[in-house]
Amino acid sequence: MNVGILGATGAVGQKFIRLLQNHPWFKIEALGASQRSAGKQYNQATNWIEDVPLPDDIASKTVLECRPSEFKGIDFVFSGLDSSAAFEIEGAFAKAGIPVISNAKNYRMDETVPLLVPEVNPEHIELIKNQKFTNNGSGWIVTNPNCVAVPLSMALKPLHDTFGIETVILTTMQAVSGAGYPGVASLDILGNVVPFISGEESKIKPETQKLLANFEDGKLNSPEIKLQATATRIPTINGHMLSATVKLRQSPSDLEEIKKTFLNWKNPIAKLDLPSSPEQVILVHEEDRYPQPRLHADQEGGMQLHIGRLRISEVFDISFVAMAHNTIRGAAGGAILNAELLVKKGIFKKD
Ligand code: NAP
Repeated sequence: MNVGILGATGAVGQKFIRLLQNHPWFKIEALGASQRSAGKQYNQATNWIEDVPLPDDIASKTVLECRPSEFKGIDFVFSGLDSSAAFEIEGAFAKAGIPVISNAKNYRMDETVPLLVPEVNPEHIELIKNQKFTNNGSGWIVTNPNCVAVPLSMALKPLHDTFGIETVILTTMQAVSGAGYPGVASLDILGNVVPFISGEESKIKPETQKLLANFEDGKLNSPEIKLQATATRIPTINGHMLSATVKLRQSPSDLEEIKKTFLNWKNPIAKLDLPSSPEQVILVHEEDRYPQPRLHADQEGGMQLHIGRLRISEVFDISFVAMAHNTIRGAAGGAILNAELLVKKGIFKKD
C-alpha cells in the first residue's frame, strides 16, 4: 500500500521513516509537514536525529503541505503531527476518504475513534463503523495512546482480566525523546530530574480506562479505575520507565499467582503473524536490576514490554516497574502495528 506521513519532519515522523524502510506491506510515497517545511527537499527541511543514515529516496523527496489534495494516490496516512495542527488536518484527511492512523492526542477520546493497542483491545476497531467522516466509510481515524498509557495498559491488561484493577499509584520516569525535537532544554535536563511534564498526567487515566473498556453492542464500557500519576522527565534518551503500585479487585493468593498471570497471558493477535509483532510481547525480568532503558528498550525492535521488580506491596496488592520504547512501542511502531492489524482485518476500503 502507498502511505503518506503527516508531521514527517518531527521525532515521531522520522521514526516512521526509519521503521517503514523495507516494510513488506507499506511504501512511503508522500511526506507532509508545516508550511515552514513544505516545498523543501526532505533533507533540507528536517534535522535527522535517527542513528541510521537518511535513505536517499526519502532525502530527495519534496515535503508537501498537509492537505488531502496533495496526497493523491495515497491509501492511508500515518500522523506524527503536533497536536496544535492535528485536529483540523487529520479530520480533513478522513473527510477526503484517506484513513488516518494517528499519534496525536486530539481524537483519542472521541467515542467513535478506536484508541488502539492491538494486544490490549483489538476488538475496539469495530468502532470505526460508527464514524461519519465519509458516507461510504472510506475515511476514518484510528489513534494510538500516549507513550505512558501504552506500556501501562499492556502491563495492566493481564491483571485486569484476572483480578480486576481498582487503584493505581504511578510514577513515570520519561526519556527526553518523548518531548520531540528539540524538546527539553539541555540545561533543564542534564544531571537532573524534572518532576512535571505539562499535560501528561491528565491523559493517563482516561486513556488507560478507554483501553481496558469492554466492547459491547457497538459501545465501550470503561472500568472505574482510580489512578494517581506523577510524570517526571529524566535524562535517558529512549524508553519510559513506570513504577506502579496496584490495588486489585480480587487479591491474589501470592506472588506466584501474579507471575503466572503474566506468563499465561495469551496475545490475542499472535496468530495473525503481523510483521511488527514482537515474538514475545511481555518479558518479565527476574533480576532486580532489570529492566533498564539503555539495555532493553530496543529489544524485539523496540516493541516489547518489559516488567520487573514484581513484588507484593505492603500498601496495596502488588508493585512492579514496566518499561517500553516510547517512540517505537509508544508511538510510530505502535501505529504501524495498528495499521497492520487493520489491513489483516480488512478495514481498508477502496472508494
Ligand atoms: P515534533 O518533533 O515537534 O514534530 C511535530 C511535527 O508536526 C513536525 O513534522 C512539524 O512540522 C509538524 N507540524 C507542526 N505544526 C504543523 C502545522 N501547523 N501543520 C502541519 N504540520 C505541522 O513532535 P513529535 O515528538 O514527533 O510528536 C508528534 C506527535 O506525536 C505529537 O502529537 C505528540 O504528542 C505525539 N507523540 C509523541 C511521542 C514521543 O515519544 N515523541 C509519543 C507518542 C505520541 P515542521 O517540522 O515543518 O514544523
